[in-house]
Amino acid sequence: MLRREEIEELRSIVGAEWVSTGDSVRKLHSRDESFHESVLPDVVVWPHSTEEVSRLLKWAYRRKIPITPWGAGTSLEGNPIPVRGGMVISLQEMNRILAIRQEDFQVDVQAGINYKELNRQLSRYGLFFPPDPGADATIGGMIGNNASGIRTVKYGATKDYVMRLVVVLPDGEIIQTGTRARKSSSGYDLCRLFTGSEGTLGIITEATLRLVGLPANFMALRATFPTLRAATDTVFQIMSSGLTPSAMEFLDEEVVRVINIDRGLSLQENPTLLMEFDGFSKKGLQEEIAFVEEICRGNGCSSLDKGIGPEERNRLWEIRHLTFESIKRCHPGLSPLIVDVAVPLSRYSDMVAFIKQAVADLNAYIFGHAGDGNIHVVIMDDPGDERRWEQVQRANEKIVLKALELEGTCTGEHGVGIGKRGFLPREHGKSLKLMKRIKELLDPEGLMNPEKIFL
Ligand SMILES: Cc1cc2nc3c(=O)[nH]c(=O)nc-3n(C[C@H](O)[C@H](O)[C@H](O)COP(=O)(O)OP(=O)(O)OC[C@H]3O[C@@H](n4cnc5c(N)ncnc54)[C@H](O)[C@@H]3O)c2cc1C
Repeated sequence: MLRREEIEELRSIVGAEWVSTGDSVRKLHSRDESFHESVLPDVVVWPHSTEEVSRLLKWAYRRKIPITPWGAGTSLEGNPIPVRGGMVISLQEMNRILAIRQEDFQVDVQAGINYKELNRQLSRYGLFFPPDPGADATIGGMIGNNASGIRTVKYGATKDYVMRLVVVLPDGEIIQTGTRARKSSSGYDLCRLFTGSEGTLGIITEATLRLVGLPANFMALRATFPTLRAATDTVFQIMSSGLTPSAMEFLDEEVVRVINIDRGLSLQENPTLLMEFDGFSKKGLQEEIAFVEEICRGNGCSSLDKGIGPEERNRLWEIRHLTFESIKRCHPGLSPLIVDVAVPLSRYSDMVAFIKQAVADLNAYIFGHAGDGNIHVVIMDDPGDERRWEQVQRANEKIVLKALELEGTCTGEHGVGIGKRGFLPREHGKSLKLMKRIKELLDPEGLMNPEKIFL
């Protein structure tokens, strides 16, 4: 535990009201949205500027106090759990837009801004930041985990939007990486190094993000299929035909079933694809949709509902946004283990078929960002029941190993955190050594978000 004088020193850096050792605050910053065990930090602080973050890190570095950066705590792999106690630095008070550069399609933000709020403000300028993880995440947390989401299939992941970062290194030094130029081949790409580093290399305080113009027209489709393979083969055929959906999500029949129960709906309980297309002209969209319909029908699609415009899109897509909450509500008292893997698109059908078998005896729900080859499985069970939970963990391991065998990855978007550390040697081989050396170079004392990414 930190001593009273140390807490006073922290108060002198950020102001008394922005330092808390209260039980409820520490508890709120002791866990993310995963099942991983919570650990209380000694203290939580809310800086308001890069300089304050720098002073905090210098202070902690001298005293060898572990630091965990905190965005909104919505991670799913234990990424922001302060496993060695110490200080949680929450970026939530650094939540301002610093400049909107409409003509350059760029925005400068502080890292604690929520991406939904950012997009709300950008919409007035006809612009948006496409990565969309669904949860109430901050830009800093999204960069930390290299988050993606339903629009990644067309627009890419967070890494594709980071142009420039202000980062405070573990010893308190402030650096800037990247440039505002649309392209650059100047030296190592340090923006990419910090993106996905899960707070293990430093604290991101500001970012310049690339933006995209809001599309003029939307068209959405919901299609159901008689078998799992018919649905997943459709994904591959659409993606390999050169069509560019702006979203392409898969739900298995179990997911549709819990949504029906939870929401009192009567949707066909079959493997389902949700798709969205966007573009300049309605005519162009209609042509694309006609082609999609042809592919769906060719795979025996049993129902197809479609609509134009944002209201129709919301109607058809409502069920996707309810997925996680509906699953949890249908299993009161149980906890979720969320598997997150991604494979090459040509292996998507095989991967989903494998998962279906691997989780046959469990309360399991398969869905995901199909157009990216990304699959999630939510398995609901009781971590207190050792025998059952071991079975859940075994299924997780089997699925991840299969994804690696199919030349995929152990995590498509949730990051490594605590949960995926054991799979990194197999996925990265000798490159893992280089990653460890980079970590040692930047954080020789091992203070930044300790025990994450590496075992
Ligand atoms: C219902 C639900 C659905 C989700 N769906 C998706 C999805 O579709 N796609 C997806 O990618 N994720 C998804 N997630 C996971 C999660 O929302 C994302 O990973 C998100 O980016 C985390 O953001 P956060 O602000 O909550 O960060 P946190 O959880 O607070 O932190 C994330 C990591 O980044 C570090 N960090 C935070 N801020 C900074 C900073 N300023 N500088 C350096 N490091 C920092 C933390 O230490 C931690 O390691 C989902 C989560 C939930 C609960």
